[in-house]
Amino acid sequence: MVRSVLDALETPAPASRGAAPPRVVVVGGGFAGLRLLRRLEALLPADRAELLVISPVDHLLYTSLIPQVCASTVEPRHLAVALLAVLKRTELFLGDVVSADFQARTVTVRSADGSTRPVHWDRLVLAPGSVTATPDVPGLAEHALGLKTLDEAVALRDHVLSRLELAEATKDRRHRAALCTFVVVGGGYTGTELAAQMAAFTRRAAATYPSLRPADVRWLLVDHAPRLLHDLAPALGKRAARVLARRGIEVRLGTSAVEIGADSITLATGGPNVRRHARLPTHTVVWCAGVRPSPLAAALELPTNHGRIVTDEFFRVPAVDGVFALGDVAAVPDSTRGGAPTGQTAQHAVRQGAAAARNVAASLGVRKPRPYRHHDLGFVVDLGGRDAVANPFGLTLSGLPAAVLTRGYHLTTLPATANRLRVATDWLLNSVLGQEITHYATPDPREETIAAAERTGIYQHTS
Ligand SMILES: Cc1cc2nc3c(=O)[nH]c(=O)nc-3n(C[C@H](O)[C@H](O)[C@H](O)COP(=O)(O)OP(=O)(O)OC[C@H]3O[C@@H](n4cnc5c(N)ncnc54)[C@H](O)[C@@H]3O)c2cc1C
Repeated sequence: MVRSVLDALETPAPASRGAAPPRVVVVGGGFAGLRLLRRLEALLPADRAELLVISPVDHLLYTSLIPQVCASTVEPRHLAVALLAVLKRTELFLGDVVSADFQARTVTVRSADGSTRPVHWDRLVLAPGSVTATPDVPGLAEHALGLKTLDEAVALRDHVLSRLELAEATKDRRHRAALCTFVVVGGGYTGTELAAQMAAFTRRAAATYPSLRPADVRWLLVDHAPRLLHDLAPALGKRAARVLARRGIEVRLGTSAVEIGADSITLATGGPNVRRHARLPTHTVVWCAGVRPSPLAAALELPTNHGRIVTDEFFRVPAVDGVFALGDVAAVPDSTRGGAPTGQTAQHAVRQGAAAARNVAASLGVRKPRPYRHHDLGFVVDLGGRDAVANPFGLTLSGLPAAVLTRGYHLTTLPATANRLRVATDWLLNSVLGQEITHYATPDPREETIAAAERTGIYQHTS
């Protein structure tokens, strides 16, 4: 049953709240926000704090499996973990926080209908995550597809299948080749997983069209770094590169995307003095080249480090009392790396959620605060089918053992049993029946742009 939060929001300003318990407002119900709230529910009795989460969506999106939505291995909805199903007493208010008044202790929430209202807080926890980084590459904003939200994942799958349908319908060989060429920019874990899984999926899809052949489909993975998975241990990148080569994916390292058009991408190689450019005909460029903090960080005008809200190791925002930040949006110092900001990963976000809950509770007089400290446990990269690479606790694995570990890891870390069962069932059915090669809707290029899909225009200021 959906709980109504409107009565709670009518609560007047602090002076007239009398004996009402302090209100903890959490902005964002993703990896960090949800974990924090679950811990707070355990740490704080109902009479010690009122808990409220503000989120534009009613679920946590389990992003790690998004490439599998594109490749039709997992149903989109199965990655959406319903917040109210896993939270016991937290109230949910649907909307976007667009600004804050740190003197009056309120945030302004914009609802889906465009109306706004102030919400009072006694403790404010900022966990709105990140959006796709879109550097100043001509044509990127208009023509590239992103991969951060469920909408984008579904749109990408639909877009790719519709390119194959258009290729099937044309007799022009050049046009067909361009339609069957797919370029992923960014060789981190998202881009690598996507290219690996989509190459296999689209070749299977091509085989179902009368005049297309799997060999017509061409995937390229482009990165300006000298190696794949450059943020992870070098051994993982080497092993992933072997799998990609086996799947016929062209990996172009030391290569930058410098211009994107409706039907081409221009790639540049070489140093600044000997730059060589090549134009490649394609109707699909997927931009997986990193994230930037939620534009809310800039709108709040708090001190930032590379756009991330500066905090101390207790997640406190030093400039303002009672405000905490964590997850992708926050530059939390990593004591295991000399105080550099922690990586923008779900692993950190989840652990920060648990650690920050303790410190928020401590600020309300329950338990003692503790600084954040987390040692990297390793990473898993699912390349689809029986292929994966992983380095649990520094041990490098690939092939079937890594694939089993990767799938087991996801089933363990998905935050709800219902989602675990649904995803496991998807995997089982796909292994027997194969992936479904259908799209939901006819893609609309206006809705496919990264800014439209990720709604980055709703803030007063953007970085
Ligand atoms: C495709 C993809 C694959 C990934 N795979 C992995 C992986 O395998 N392993 C790994 O460790 N990490 C992975 N990541 C990174 C991981 O998803 C992030 O590091 C993690 O989600 C950060 O958690 P968070 O809570 O800070 O943000 P999120 O989980 O993104 O949650 C932020 C929440 O805040 C909400 N929100 C945003 N703005 C507002 C606002 N103004 N007001 C209210 N709510 C707002 C959002 O809707 C969202 O629900 C992946 C990311 C992507 C995109």
